[in-house]
Amino acid sequence: MSRACRAAALGLAVLAAPALAGSDVAPPPRVHEVARGDTLVGLAKRYGATVGAFVSANQLRGPDAPLTPGQRLVIPAPPTRPPVSKTRAPAKGLATPAMARPAPPAGPRPPASFVLAVPDFDEVRLAFAWPAEGPVTSTFGRRRSGWHRGIDIKAERGTPVWAAAAGVVLVSRVEPRYGRVIKLAHDYDIVTVYAHNEQNLVRAGDRVAAGETIATVGKTGRATADHVHFEIRRNGRAYNPLYLLPLPPRIAHVEETDESPADE
Ligand SMILES: [Zn+2]
Repeated sequence: MSRACRAAALGLAVLAAPALAGSDVAPPPRVHEVARGDTLVGLAKRYGATVGAFVSANQLRGPDAPLTPGQRLVIPAPPTRPPVSKTRAPAKGLATPAMARPAPPAGPRPPASFVLAVPDFDEVRLAFAWPAEGPVTSTFGRRRSGWHRGIDIKAERGTPVWAAAAGVVLVSRVEPRYGRVIKLAHDYDIVTVYAHNEQNLVRAGDRVAAGETIATVGKTGRATADHVHFEIRRNGRAYNPLYLLPLPPRIAHVEETDESPADE
């Protein structure tokens, strides 16, 4: 390669550099296996890249570095095209900003604060009792939209809500989604939650016995029917109460279509 030609190629390399730096999305690198007769100029033309991009992508000595058959070269991304003028309507099939957004949170993978597996509470010597009398109308976990941190137990308004185990009242207040809610702290860092109460009958700091009435059933907060929303948490993670409550599971009628997705 002549000196002038080489200088021109190096100039191309310099020009190509900003385009490469601008491509922050890195697809898996494509690779070309060098065949007899291949040249960098030929490969650059073939893959819509510049010689300079080939040189830098493969850390070659320069644009006239010798190629040997069988050598594997990373194919650089084509140079970035100039942005489409804003006055032009976007071409059909191009990704819109909405399409470019990451997938909605309601994917098949649960949030990190959910444990779908059977709890491995080997050291926990704590027996839980049902907090209300009634069928489970919504189970723990995936919903049509989002994730359900507990179970819903249908019960008549005003009927008692019982402490699932002995503990201390951590919270007794009104929250936007839970409505009137009680949270009990138990041994082994376990917290139970009782939401949508009509009335809270205990106050923060109170000590309660297992089975003690702590509230009455209602539909305060985000709820469309009278029920107890019950959660069992440990170290900030929500566990499936049906794995921890005594058998038989009272799933008398689980039909999500009957239940408002807005219910907590
Ligand atoms: Zn619920």
